[in-house]
Amino acid sequence: MLANLHNADIPRPVLDVIARLREQGHAVYLVGGCVRDMVRKVHPKDFDVATSALPEEVQGAFRKVIPTGIQHGTVTVVQGGTHVEVTTFRSEGDYLDGRRPSSVAFERDIVKDLSRRDFTINAMAYNPLDRELVDPFGGQADLQSQLIRCVGSALERFSEDGLRPMRAVRFAAVLGFSLDPATRDAIPATLGVFRKVALERVREELTKLLLSPRAEGGLVLLSETGLLDVFLPEVARADPEAARLARAATQAAPAEIELRVAALLADLVDRTRARDIGLRLKFPNKVADLVALLVENARLEDRVADSDPALRRLLARVGLAQLPHLVAVARARVQVRAPERCAELEQLVTRLEALAAARPPLVAKDLALTGGDIMATLGVGPSPIVGEATRFLMESVLDEPSLNTAEALKQRLLSWHSARPTT
Ligand code: ATP
Ligand code: MG
Repeated sequence: MLANLHNADIPRPVLDVIARLREQGHAVYLVGGCVRDMVRKVHPKDFDVATSALPEEVQGAFRKVIPTGIQHGTVTVVQGGTHVEVTTFRSEGDYLDGRRPSSVAFERDIVKDLSRRDFTINAMAYNPLDRELVDPFGGQADLQSQLIRCVGSALERFSEDGLRPMRAVRFAAVLGFSLDPATRDAIPATLGVFRKVALERVREELTKLLLSPRAEGGLVLLSETGLLDVFLPEVARADPEAARLARAATQAAPAEIELRVAALLADLVDRTRARDIGLRLKFPNKVADLVALLVENARLEDRVADSDPALRRLLARVGLAQLPHLVAVARARVQVRAPERCAELEQLVTRLEALAAARPPLVAKDLALTGGDIMATLGVGPSPIVGEATRFLMESVLDEPSLNTAEALKQRLLSWHSARPTT
């Protein structure tokens, strides 16, 4: 495994930063996720540098440094056009609230820094110039045996920071690893601490889990450990068979967060509840709205016998831009819930796509008459009747798109108006 590290492709600017700090007599390593990934022969997303140099010393060693998180010892060195995060070795004081340490202290020793980290596989450091790997907690062995194991006592580590159990399950899902038994057993025992964690942080881990190729297994683990019940009781308490199908549909959906969340929720909750869940988990409004829309309309298999006007109304409700998303969620659901209906669904999708390709008028601004035209035709000023008339015309063209010409709409509008009871 050391060979993997020695052959890893580390960006030049990162190596330059390490070389400069070493030149000045400081201890310096790559740490955390990037070391784990290099050992696994996966190209790291980012390279984090840790050093014995104090933040001021790091600032002094480079021309351009941004003090991104200087109170925690992190600065960003701008080197060769890229940003390299450099953090001073640190240890953490007691956790008083299950969320953050009461203090952080800078350290001279890399092992102190590694011992505050969450899992053995995340607690390794590597100096690529000296080709030295620091692995005090057996991270390499756990990578080999595909285990997520806390650094030190799992009960203590989970009691310090309630997010860690969620991270354990997330890493298990993303990497396809198992939880070490002691780590796993500590989760139910520390749920009270997990409950205090800000939902944004939970959502970030949940998103990584859901987008991983093993979302289904990750959801099982969340459920078995009791974590899911804390932030998603709607799924955790669902009928077991319904929950199983929902997890399978999640996995079957393309790896986009809205699609996976919608596939998970579509057969368990209604539109309103889906939106509430999205907002509760602090997803952006846009995401919560799209999830709600997809949940509301996902059961496309119920619409295979719908008329063209009904399908145009569906297109109007979801919007043409969202059609591919809706189809993706519907396919994922039908694939796991009713595979024998896939062909039927595909026929419906073909019809929907043909209707959409014809670019029918779907919203008021697609009408051949503007609000001004409607007022002129009826001889009225701005008033509620204009809205009513617009809705009437919209319904007409959804039934029959070829009516969408100024002449035809004017005629319909006038006969609608004269047939209308006057008050
Ligand atoms: P990813 O590839 O998903 O970013 P990562 O290992 O880089 O994985 P980060 O969340 O970016 O994960 O954290 C970077 C490192 O910081 C981790 O590898 C770990 O050593 C440490 N770390 C992060 N969060 C915690 C935590 N809650 N408790 C202890 N250590 C943590
Ligand atoms: Mg990271």
